[in-house]
Amino acid sequence: MAQADLIIVNTCTVRAKAEQKAFSLLGRLARMKRDKKGLIIGVGGCVAQQEGEKILDRMPAVDLVFGTQAIDRLPHLIKQIEARRCRIVDVDMNADPRIPESLVESRDESEVSKFVTIMRGCDNHCTYCVVPFVRGREASRRPESILREIHSLVKTGVREITLLGQNVNSYGKNQNLCTFSELLSMINEVEGILRIRFTTSHPKDLGSDLIAAFRNLDKLCPHIHLPVQSGSNRVLKRMNRQYTREQYLDKVMKLRDTCPQIAITSDIIVGFPGESQADFEQTLQLIKTVEFDGLFAFQYSDRPQAPSVKLPDKLSEPIIRKRLQIVLELQEKFTKRKNEDLVGSTPLVLTDGLSKKQVSDQPVENGPDLQWTGRTSTNKIVNFYVDDPAIECENLTGKMVGVRVDKGFSHSLLGRVINVEPSAGGLKGVKNYAA
Ligand code: SAH
Ligand code: SF4
Repeated sequence: MAQADLIIVNTCTVRAKAEQKAFSLLGRLARMKRDKKGLIIGVGGCVAQQEGEKILDRMPAVDLVFGTQAIDRLPHLIKQIEARRCRIVDVDMNADPRIPESLVESRDESEVSKFVTIMRGCDNHCTYCVVPFVRGREASRRPESILREIHSLVKTGVREITLLGQNVNSYGKNQNLCTFSELLSMINEVEGILRIRFTTSHPKDLGSDLIAAFRNLDKLCPHIHLPVQSGSNRVLKRMNRQYTREQYLDKVMKLRDTCPQIAITSDIIVGFPGESQADFEQTLQLIKTVEFDGLFAFQYSDRPQAPSVKLPDKLSEPIIRKRLQIVLELQEKFTKRKNEDLVGSTPLVLTDGLSKKQVSDQPVENGPDLQWTGRTSTNKIVNFYVDDPAIECENLTGKMVGVRVDKGFSHSLLGRVINVEPSAGGLKGVKNYAA
């Protein structure tokens, strides 16, 4: 970083903690700039959108603040700063509501697996959430443009894609595009793509066509992230989530009826204003009923623009922290048990590459100690070894392998390879890569 001429800090404002982290990083960068006068520092993302010019006042070292819809203008903005050494704020949200097709916000996960942004913004009004304010109205990319991007990713060796949107179920709505499940069907036909994932799906909009896609589309991975936020109808109403606990449980049941092996993960907010002990216990009860495969739990965080800021009966920090702890401990048991239940099974794993531990240890030779990492179709991380000399494997990155699971931990599985995809043609006898 010390050699960089340009540093861009991409920020998140969904919770206060993320925003604080961004500002503390900017403080450190400002100290760096004292020794390197020409360094350009830019701030993008949701904090930039939310705070705009205030960032320039608070952080004299920052040259550029650009909002969530200014990404396509970024090269031009940087050129202007270089030419005139001026400071710029561009948080315009109404210039063009469409997603610029030439510069989408795809992010890298690995060489094998990539995120593809299919829409941006959100038209929902969950009362705790700042996203609609900083990301603007919902806008979807055209299917042709998405397919073009996926085809070009395949050429670079990508085999798995994750479609991104705040509420993928409303993809194409009001724009005369296809529905999300139709988009999935089209992507399912793309040769070279072995696995399709998506996130996030809003429970209120999860329809029977998308549920059926888990049965009908062979490349769609049997995993859904379906944030419930709370198990109490009273709290769900105050959050304006527009579904009840019963409706949520009904969708979970339909998903499992349609696709018995489906993994279900979720988000929970603890300590929403007015959440009583009884409300909280309803959430615990729901977690026990569903037995999620994984759960992200967050302490409620007041966001300045979100309507819940004005709600009475805010809970104290120690109570919220305690509730978070209880949720995490409860879920840990289910996650661990589900992972332990997989011991002895032989799931297909798409290899991302050497495990992080291994990369930092810089292994040189291929051998039984070499540890690889990948994911099951149900999105569980598997670290694995190749201990059978009969299995040839110079480089497993991007390969589909059959792994025997030996151990199940809280956040991952450990196993060894029993079968390697011989060529692009796939593992013998295995038709469904997502299986
Ligand atoms: N569009 C997605 C969520 C985007 S934000 C959805 O509807 O599920 C990701 C997660 O952050 C949310 O699911 C929620 O659990 C959490 N979150 C959002 N705002 C929050 C807040 N003010 N305090 C705590 N957690 C919050
Ligand atoms: Fe926020 Fe709700 Fe939109 Fe998700 S659906 S981004 S939680 S407003």
